[in-house]
Parts: sequence; structure tokens; C-alpha cells
Amino acid sequence: MVKITIKDLTFSYGSNKILDDLNVVLDDAEVLSLVGPNGSGKTTLIKCIDRILKPEGSILLDGKEVQSMKQQEIARQMGYVPQSSSAPLATTVFDTVLMGRRPRISWRVSDKDISKVADTLELLNLQELALRDFAQLSGGQKQKVLIARALAQEPSVLLLDEPTSNLDMKHQLEVMETISALVKERGISAVMAIHDLNLAARFSDKLVMLKRGVVYAAGSPDELLSEKNISDVYGVEALVMRSLDKPCIIPLRSLNGGAVCMT
Ligand code: ADP
Repeated sequence: MVKITIKDLTFSYGSNKILDDLNVVLDDAEVLSLVGPNGSGKTTLIKCIDRILKPEGSILLDGKEVQSMKQQEIARQMGYVPQSSSAPLATTVFDTVLMGRRPRISWRVSDKDISKVADTLELLNLQELALRDFAQLSGGQKQKVLIARALAQEPSVLLLDEPTSNLDMKHQLEVMETISALVKERGISAVMAIHDLNLAARFSDKLVMLKRGVVYAAGSPDELLSEKNISDVYGVEALVMRSLDKPCIIPLRSLNGGAVCMT
């Protein structure tokens, strides 16, 4: 179980400041969704947490500074699921998921590793694809395999960059239900960048709404997903209703002059 504390985090690409003085706290067994328009800094923040990028400020896992951890320790603690376009080398689905065990094995693959991979494939309903070439899968199938690879690693923190973007409705729900159940059952934390506000509302404990690299607001989906916030951050007029006791957003029209993305 891990608590994540992000303190005064700032990151620039060259002279272009992307994230500015961010502060976020995430307790264990919680799903945190990063929302905001294209270019608002969601992916950059996920890469900073996983130390793919080196920000200023600090990121603490249970009080321990991520910057000071060894790469192996980071790999054991955090499972990173990139957007599915970043594909690993051509190999079978089984071997791709087995690669997730790498931070936990020496040079020899054990029975435990094999059975962990098999269990994870089953958990995500991927067992029928086990011997298929990863490169030949559909975008949605690839995305699920990348999630399985991160889960096989048994991380305390799951970092996901738009995990549902290539999936149809059924697979979107399947993936979000799986992540949400794992977080609750295993007491891990998940941080995900996500575009779909309705999925974020339904499956997140907390949201952080980014606008031009700063936290516009943070809180529960109920607190954050108001018509005003959506208009301010996305430049979109939306109707916020309720469904399954969660906010349900119906986008109506883009507002003139509402473009807020940094790209
Ligand atoms: P989001 O995930 O919210 O769409 P990103 O974190 O991908 O936003 O991008 C935030 C900003 O950083 C954008 O303006 C983007 O153009 C810029 N950016 C992303 N990657 C790079 C890079 N490798 N070099 C320079 N700028 C980048």
C-alpha cells in the first residue's frame, strides 16, 4: 500500500514550462484520474511520476523520494502503461506480459512467473490471444495486453496513459472495472490520464483537472464535474446530469474562444 505525494512539481521541455508548481496527494486504494484538454500536461505528469522525465520539486512514495530510488525499485513499485501506440518489440502476447515480470526475476523464469502471467491473462480475458503475435493485434487488444504486462509486475502504483482510448464500450468498461477492482482488492493506487469524463466520474475516487499545466481544481468527481468547470477548462458548454449516482456529462457545444489547449 502506497501513498503518493506530489509537492511543488514543475517541469519544462527546454524553455517551455509544461507543469507549474503542482501539488497532489493520493492515498492507497484510490484511483486518481488526470483530466484536462489535449496538451494540458497529463502525459507529462505521468512520465514525471515514473521518472521517465526529471521534474523539479518532489514525488514521494510513502514518504520516499522517487528521484532517489534505484531504477529497479521504481520498476517494482510502479507499473507504467503507455498509450498503445508505443508498442514493444514483436513477440507473442504471453512473452509481452512476461516482460512485466522483469523487475522481479533474475535471469531465470520461475514457475511462479509463468503462473502469474497466466493468471493475469485470465484476469483480463486474454488467454485466447496468448500465443498470437503482439504486433498483429487490434489497437484495443494491444492496450489490454499492455495493461496485463503492468499488472504482472505486481506494482503498488499503476500509471496509465489513456488506458481506454482505443477500446469499444464493452472493453472500456471491462478495463475500468478491472482496474477499479484491483485497486480496492489489492490496496494499490492507480493514476490515469483519461479523456472520457463519464468513465472518469464513474471509476475514480479523485480527479485532478489540469489546465495549461496547472491544477485548475482537485477533488471528488462530484465536486469537480460542474458545468462551470467544464466550460472554464475545456471551453465546452455541457449538461451535467446524474446517472448511477455519479455525474454524467453531455457535451452540447464548443464555446467561442474556448480553446485552451497548449498544442
Ligand atoms: P496531454 O497528455 O494533456 O495531452 P502532454 O503532457 O502530452 O499533454 O503535453 C503537454 C505539452 O507538452 C504540450 O504542449 C506538448 O506539445 C508538449 N510536449 C509533449 N511532449 C513533448 C516533447 N517531447 N518535447 C517538447 N514538448 C513536448
